[in-house]
Amino acid sequence: MDNHKMTWEAYRDIAPSGIVDLGHRISERLKGKTLLHVNSTRWGGGVAEMLHRLVPLFQDLGVDTQWDVIEGSPEFYQVTKAFHNALQGQAQVITSEMYDAYLKINKKNGRKMDLNADMVIIHDPQPAPLIYKKKKQSKWLWRCHIDASRPQRNVWNFLKSYVSKYDGAILSLPGFARKLNIPQYLVYPSIDPLSDKNKELTEDEVRGVLRKYNIPEDKPMILQVSRFDRFKDPVGVIESYKMVKKYNDCCLVLAGGGAADDPEGAQVLIDVENAAEKDKDIFILDLPPDANIEINALQRAATVVIQKSLKEGFGLTVAEAMWKGKPVIGGFVGGITVQIVYGQTGFTVNSVEGCAYRIRYLLNNPEFSKQMGQNAKEFTRHNFLITRHIIDYLSLMIANLNL
Ligand code: UDP
Repeated sequence: MDNHKMTWEAYRDIAPSGIVDLGHRISERLKGKTLLHVNSTRWGGGVAEMLHRLVPLFQDLGVDTQWDVIEGSPEFYQVTKAFHNALQGQAQVITSEMYDAYLKINKKNGRKMDLNADMVIIHDPQPAPLIYKKKKQSKWLWRCHIDASRPQRNVWNFLKSYVSKYDGAILSLPGFARKLNIPQYLVYPSIDPLSDKNKELTEDEVRGVLRKYNIPEDKPMILQVSRFDRFKDPVGVIESYKMVKKYNDCCLVLAGGGAADDPEGAQVLIDVENAAEKDKDIFILDLPPDANIEINALQRAATVVIQKSLKEGFGLTVAEAMWKGKPVIGGFVGGITVQIVYGQTGFTVNSVEGCAYRIRYLLNNPEFSKQMGQNAKEFTRHNFLITRHIIDYLSLMIANLNL
């Protein structure tokens, strides 16, 4: 966690012109109003990461904001993990005991939590049943961060019985909309340009990281940052690189993490190492979870950034690289398709060959790549920064509280 005090003003020179003033203006209408976020974990995962950055900014804008976390048992997390997978379309067996355990933990949390706020935003399915605590005068929104567009029907129907009691649902992509009897809002996730992951670095800092990992500085670098997960297709990235390497000298960096404590990740890492065949220009980095500066530096040092996912939620790594002015080649899936405007802010691809073709195109056309990277940065500034995210939430509060 970066430990400087976060202020809304700090974004004046970074956010699109007028956004900081707009934030001050609209938050004035929310003075004295209270906002409560509830999710299921304080650390780990994108939701917690975003809340750590969003909550201090709401507070700095004068909106009295709290963040609370439900407490579960190992059994509860097993059940909610099964829910998560079922909602994302993977077949799961959910027994009535599992439903009961889920409701019991929510009841227990509901009894001891103070859920009184003008607006309550409940994140993801884990705490969704807390809606039973809603008071008449407050507004509750359910914030869904996952792709529940093709869920296992029985799990969705169960969850829907709670979700439909909310005043609205907030989704991350248009394609995630469901048939519901409540309003559905679209709010894209965001990155924070002032976090360690995205802040400006000096050339020395960037070079220091390359030296730490013995990455050559004298040839173009192709980079993919992602967990070692089959859906991120790291082996496909290596195959594309090998096709490129026949014609263009370059190196490939695959930066991931968490493989050690994830059995599936460990196997994917082995497959990746086998596919790399000891090529001395392929660098496979298994990074610790707090390697934010390292990832930032690698993204800044890269010539072309890849996110060749076969399935994706939003794909924050795409916005991270675009913000650093890099041309990104991404799989045509999930949120990558809203971030990459084909041929303008990057290229979307559907195959190893397509990816190789576009890498070569970008390596061979440096002026075009530079322009594409600049377009990507501006597109990210307007659409995927935390400042836009805050404005969206403030607007939802104003609309729902009828202010
Ligand atoms: N990330 C990281 N270390 C790693 C791999 C990824 O910190 O070894 C970060 C990455 O920079 C991004 C997030 O984890 O901020 C991944 O988010 P994304 O939406 O791209 O994919 P997810 O992992 O949620 O599927």
